This record gives sequence, structure tokens and C-alpha cells, in this order.
Amino acid sequence: MTAQNAALAALRQYYGYDSFRPGQQGIVEALLAGRDVLGVMPTGAGKSVCYQIPAALLPGVTLVISPLISLMRDQVDAVNDIGLPAAFVNTTQDMDEQAMVLAQAAAGQIKLLYVAPERLETSRFRDFAARTPISLIAVDEAHCVSQWGQDFRSSYLGIGEFIAGLPQRPPIGAFTATATERVRQDIIGLLGLCDPAITVTGFDRPNLYFDVVKLETKYKVAWVASYIAEHADESGIVYCATRKNTEDIAATLNDMGHTAVAYHGGMNADVREKAQRDFITDKVPVVVATNAFGMGIDKSDVRFVIHYNMPESIEAYYQEAGRAGRDGEPSRCTLLWNESDIVTRRRLLDSDYENDRMTPEQQEIVRQSKRRLLDGMIGYCRTTDCLHRYMTRYFGQELAAAAGGTDTAGEVNGKCGACSNCESTFATTDVTQVARAISRCVHDVNQRVGSGKIVKILRGSQAQDLAWLNPEQLPTFGMLKDVNTALIRDVLNQMATDGYLSIAEGRLPIVQFGVRAAETVAPGFHYEIKKVERKSASRAVQRDMRAGGATGAEAAGSGAPFSSYVPDDDAEALFQKLRELRRTIAQEIGKPPYIVFSDKTLRDMAVIRPVTNAQFLAVNGVGEHKLELYGKCFMEAVAAFNAGKTQ
Ligand SMILES: [Zn+2]
Repeated sequence: MTAQNAALAALRQYYGYDSFRPGQQGIVEALLAGRDVLGVMPTGAGKSVCYQIPAALLPGVTLVISPLISLMRDQVDAVNDIGLPAAFVNTTQDMDEQAMVLAQAAAGQIKLLYVAPERLETSRFRDFAARTPISLIAVDEAHCVSQWGQDFRSSYLGIGEFIAGLPQRPPIGAFTATATERVRQDIIGLLGLCDPAITVTGFDRPNLYFDVVKLETKYKVAWVASYIAEHADESGIVYCATRKNTEDIAATLNDMGHTAVAYHGGMNADVREKAQRDFITDKVPVVVATNAFGMGIDKSDVRFVIHYNMPESIEAYYQEAGRAGRDGEPSRCTLLWNESDIVTRRRLLDSDYENDRMTPEQQEIVRQSKRRLLDGMIGYCRTTDCLHRYMTRYFGQELAAAAGGTDTAGEVNGKCGACSNCESTFATTDVTQVARAISRCVHDVNQRVGSGKIVKILRGSQAQDLAWLNPEQLPTFGMLKDVNTALIRDVLNQMATDGYLSIAEGRLPIVQFGVRAAETVAPGFHYEIKKVERKSASRAVQRDMRAGGATGAEAAGSGAPFSSYVPDDDAEALFQKLRELRRTIAQEIGKPPYIVFSDKTLRDMAVIRPVTNAQFLAVNGVGEHKLELYGKCFMEAVAAFNAGKTQ
């Protein structure tokens, strides 16, 4: 059997899928061929498949290096449940337990071993690694190795040295969701990847509806409450910037009769754990949380994620919003924001590092890098472009799409049908002339200066720090002297986020031309930015997308992803029965319901109505091990349902 066929067979056997998602196959094949891989893919895009399939096929043990000990138990549970023997070693175990797991791994009884990076530094683990054949090393959240990333962890710096010290070097798969080139280069350099196959994949999530709502702070709670009221049977997360906010909002929602629980890092560990379990087991539909919530929560049927405040970066937003709809079913991601969110974020940036041990120069580097990340986030709020397109462009996937490899589903006339911008619920200001002037000015100064100086030149400033440029000789000097400074700045930032300009990474944020720069001098160039975000927020809320959009979108034949699922009454009734069964089983085995089967699998089951093993295996998401574990119960439920129908 070729490696390709073996990989597909393993995918079928363990996961019950017939084909890989975009990008996965290339990564799997590269690793099986012994090549290093850098996989740039979001959490939830099926990253684990990329190393679990090779782990299943290769002899020996695969080491998975993962930063969060708190997630390991759930991760390992999920792997065992598809029939791959997995275990973890960490500080939650006593020495005897750790020794036992390592002995099992050394004896070849474990295919995947999860460890935190700190573990690699212990002599006991080094001894183990020196005498046990390690066939693959997967490094999760690999951006933690870079000081340019959001979540630098010094323990990640030891990974490269650990790998170099192994008697035989296995292929390394490094995975991250971070977009910046700088961080990717750090991962390759600091982990010592050899000529890695770099794959950027899975950043578009066509089943997610992206929604940006500009709303004054005082109206936000009412908006959230009305959304929850209209989606009462759905699970959702409301993210807030502060701990106090989570408690206040959860309390307000409960006062209004909506069951919601708060979650943040300052809460007692028991209370926090209970909140998380209640949410995962569907006891509580809504959790109001800081960004401390969600790492390692694989609940696949989260139907909405609302951001009460603007996050610090697109990476952070994408990761949090991306917790919606992991099962591929239609789900909604709404960002509520206003100008004061921007002011707050900027202020936090400037105060963040004052007492840190870094030198002033290092602090400035980090601050600038964070400012750029924040600009990307602000651009998302303000852009008039498709939000799906904005996101994929941000993550560097646009070229792949242009080359014909597009997986942005459901586009009709350039409108994705799954974001609020494509439904144009906002008014715009024509800033074509401002944009042209900025572009010309960047040309005038040979792409050598930062945005502040560009604005000054265009405004005709006499500032001393411009003198070396001889600004009065520049054709664009004073060209926008009647235009408000803030507007010029906004347009410039928007042009950077839309790809007309790019701002150099490094100590000095020099404004340069972006990949679309030439468009600004084309005769037909037209550029707009948002003025008023939307005429009616409440209408958008009412436009229901919950039951798979069995309403307007399907009738109009728009081809939007939300119209892909239209349940008939029987399928819906059976689906509800299967969900009940899933909940009962989950309670019995003490695991979250999504570990048993995802909503997507249950929906497929409700349509196929399997009563034989072969039919059951045909359901999307059913592998052999799951058939063995749960097949009988579910087929009995289907048979009972069929019998009820034919009587
Ligand atoms: Zn769109």
C-alpha cells in the first residue's frame, strides 16, 4: 500500500472520514516521508489529524509537546476514544504514575505521548528519550518559542536542544496559528527545522457567519441578552476584556432569566472547573468569560461566540471566535465594538511593559509589534471588504485562493453570504482621493518613512524631524492640508490592512507598498471606509441562521453555507432523540457529549438512519472504534425510531 493509501485508510479507520480537509494530506505525507513540517493552521482546523495519522502508521512513539498541562487529560481522552493508545506525563501525576507511563511508552504500548516542554529538561525524561525509538515529534502552539509572538514561553527554547540531543533525529511537525513572517522564521530557526514543508491552511471557516456590530457600550448587554433569548437552545460563549465585566454581565443575564455562568482566571479553581464542566456537559448554555476560557475546550457544538470587547489581535480574535462551529454546522461570530474599545486597547499597550525586566529597547520592539497586531484588529472592525476575505488575507492565504485553490465556499457575485459586510449593513465614506495621495506620498519618499511622517508631509507640516527629507520639494507636500489628520491616519491603516500598503516588521514601522499597491494608480480605483456601521443591529439579530437557515437564504438560492442544511421534520426529531441518547451515554462514562459524537455526526446519522454496521460506518465521523463503543446503542435508537414511524 502506498503511504497515501495507508493514510486514507487510517483516516477512515480512526476518524471515520473519507477524505482529508485542505492541507492535511500534504502535511501527513511529508511527515510520513520523514520531512519536517511547519503547519500554519488555526486551532480547530484539524491540526491533530496531521500528526495523529502519522503516529498511527509509524513504528515507535510520537511525542506531542503541548504548552498546557490542563488540557492534556481531555486531549488524551479524545485520542484514546478513536482507538489510538495515548497517555501524558506531567506534574499532576506522582512519580510512580509517571514511571509507569514511561515504561508503557518504552514497551511500545503507547502511540502518542503528551508532554509539556518543561518535561524535556528533566534527566529522567532524557534517559527515556535516549533509549526509546521516537518516530515523530509534534510541537503544538509552536509560536510560543518566539519573543515576537503573543505567548512567549522560555521553556520552548529548550525544545531545539532536546531534539539535537536525540540519538536519532525524527521528523518534526511544528504547528501554529500565528500569521506573522517574523514568528514563522523564529519557529524554523529556534526549533531547528530542516528545510520544512510550509503549509498555510484552513483559515477560512465557511460555516462561520462573521458579524461586526458597532455599538455604544451602554447598549451592549441588551444586545447580548436579546441574542441569547432568540437562541435559547444553543451553546455560546461571550468574551469580555475584564474579569469584572464577566461577573457583571453573567449576573445581569441571570437577572433577566437567562442561565449564564462567569469564568475568569481570578476565580477559585473549583468554581472555574465547575463552570467549565457545566458548559461542556450542556448544563449551562452560556459562559461569560475572559480569554482564560477555551484553551483546550473542544466542545464542538458551540453555536455562537460574541465578543463584548475588541480583542488585541486578529490571531486572538480568530482563536476565540473559532471556538464556534467546530462541528462544521452554521454558527455565528459577532464582534461588538466602539471607538472607546480602541482607546482602551491602545492605553493597555503603552502601560503593559513598564515594569518588565526587558531593556527599554526590547520593550519598544514588543510594543511596536503589538501595535501592529492591534492595527490589524482595528482594520477588521472598519473594513468594508468581506470579513472572510479579510481574515484569509491576513493569514496569508489569499494567493492560494487566487491560484484556483479556493475553498471559500458559497461566493456569489463576490459576496460570501456569510458576513455582515457582504450584506452591506453600513454606510461608507469615499476616500479615493485620500488613498491616492497617500500612495503617491509613499512613492515620493521611496518607502523610507513611518506613517506619522507620511501624514505630516501630506498635511504640509513644518516639523523639524522632516527637514532631512526636504519635504517642500515633494509633489505630495500639503496635498491633504484640508483633510483631518485622524482621517488620513485611518485611511492609511485601512490601506495597510487591505493590502495596498504594508508596514515593515522590525524596529521602525516603515510604510511600504503592499501587494495591491498598483491598483491605487489604476484609473478605475475606488476606495471607501465605513462611516456608520449599520442601520439596524436588531434586524440582523432577527435574521435567523440557527436552524441551518431554512428560511430566506435557501429560497433565494444564494448558495450560502447557511442554506446547506435543511432538515425535514423526521430527521430533526431523530436528531433530538440521538442527542438525548448522547447526553445519557456521556453522563454514564463521565465524558463530555462531543467526545461521543459531534452534532454533525448525529445530523448525518439522522439522515442515513443506520441499522447495520456497514451503514453505521458510512456516517461521517464514525470510525471502527466508535462503532464498537457506541454503535449498538445508536442503531437501537434508530430502529426504535423507524418502528415508531411505520406503525
Ligand atoms: Zn463576506
